Amino acid sequence: MKNETKCLHSGYTPENGGPRVMPIYQSTTFKFNSSDEIGEVFNDPTKAHIYTRFTNPTVDVVEKKIAELEGGVAAMCTSSGQMASLMAILNLCSSGDSFVSSSSIYGGTVNLFAYTLKKLNIECIFVDVDSTEEEISAAIKPNTKAIFGETLTNPSLQVLDIEKFAKVAHKNNIPLIVDNTFPTPILCRPIEWGADIVIHSTSKYMDGHALQVGGVIVDSGKFDFTNGKFPEFTEPDESYHGTVYTRDYSFAPYIIKARMQLMRDFGAYPSGHSGFLLNLGLETLALRMERYCKNAQTVAEHLEKTGKFVNVNYPGLKSNKYYNLAQKYMPDGQSGVIALTLKGNKQTAVKFIDGLKLASNEVHVADIRTCVLHPASSTHRQLTEEQLVNCGINPAMVRFSVGLENVDDIIDDIDNSLKNL
Ligand SMILES: *Cc1c(COP(=O)(O)O)cnc(C)c1O
Repeated sequence: MKNETKCLHSGYTPENGGPRVMPIYQSTTFKFNSSDEIGEVFNDPTKAHIYTRFTNPTVDVVEKKIAELEGGVAAMCTSSGQMASLMAILNLCSSGDSFVSSSSIYGGTVNLFAYTLKKLNIECIFVDVDSTEEEISAAIKPNTKAIFGETLTNPSLQVLDIEKFAKVAHKNNIPLIVDNTFPTPILCRPIEWGADIVIHSTSKYMDGHALQVGGVIVDSGKFDFTNGKFPEFTEPDESYHGTVYTRDYSFAPYIIKARMQLMRDFGAYPSGHSGFLLNLGLETLALRMERYCKNAQTVAEHLEKTGKFVNVNYPGLKSNKYYNLAQKYMPDGQSGVIALTLKGNKQTAVKFIDGLKLASNEVHVADIRTCVLHPASSTHRQLTEEQLVNCGINPAMVRFSVGLENVDDIIDDIDNSLKNL
């Protein structure tokens, strides 16, 4: 099936006389006829659902759908994108280990990697997104267990050269994890370019309607965890009656281990109702992505001509530094997000945003409704103008997330605000 069809049909096929729409299993638990049968499910938790702290039939449908969309073998939903990033790393790294990450990643992920994981004695070594193979390789140490990057970065819209990062990872026998939140599998499927694990904040385009925070981890099933670097995958798990993940679950050892260890112990799992809402978003994902891209391309081309911006940063513009990489990895479009830097200062950006009537000023991105945010007065508020420039956030930069309104209305709104500057 093609992606448009998978969005609608993957994961759930009604039985004869069964509900056409995937039902909501809003239940913490599941009833069995005998203790022996419960015992059997404990022996092999992939056989049935036991408890909604780590599996649920409605969420299971969504996991199968996202795995198919990404071209992976299995997926696990999490309560947020942050939790997906955390578990993706913790499933590979223990205290004393390190991993390498592109420094061009979402700000929340930077905090998690640079500060919180450091407290757990897991070191993140940052490399520039434009690093050469040699520069990435130089950051790898004997205790390095993974490489991490973001396909299209929030909010700086830099494009990760997935093949290059995958090559270095595989030369060193470690997996590449890619955060594919902005493109979604409709615009880019990192596994086809060599990524081993894909994660998402489903709060953005996948949910699409700003209804709920969520995340997901997808296992490509391709990485060989028996290469000697990952004893937790090849030696008996004392906490799970001696399970050996690569032996007992060779089809998807990464995601089964994440579920049986991390999700069992941390319990950051969505409810059945959450799975239902996420599925509603996924059903229209392919259609929505097409329109976000078309609208954003039109808006970006228009804004470039106004002369009011130092920079209209959208990888679909020929003038963009990442145009060629974007054409390679996301030929059908580069999402709805544009980073705009106005001619002027912080106050110019604030005035521009406050003058918008249709676009809403909020801490969100990738919604069906056009929304806008000024990083310098919100997410990066504590920094001085000098510090802002040092970390790549221009004080006059505005993150503009183009929605599904008629593009003429979006452009009118912007033009009206620009007139009053
Ligand atoms: C929002 C975001 C996250 C974090 O996701 P939450 O669902 O907010 O926890 C991670 N990565 C990217 C690229 C994001 O945009």
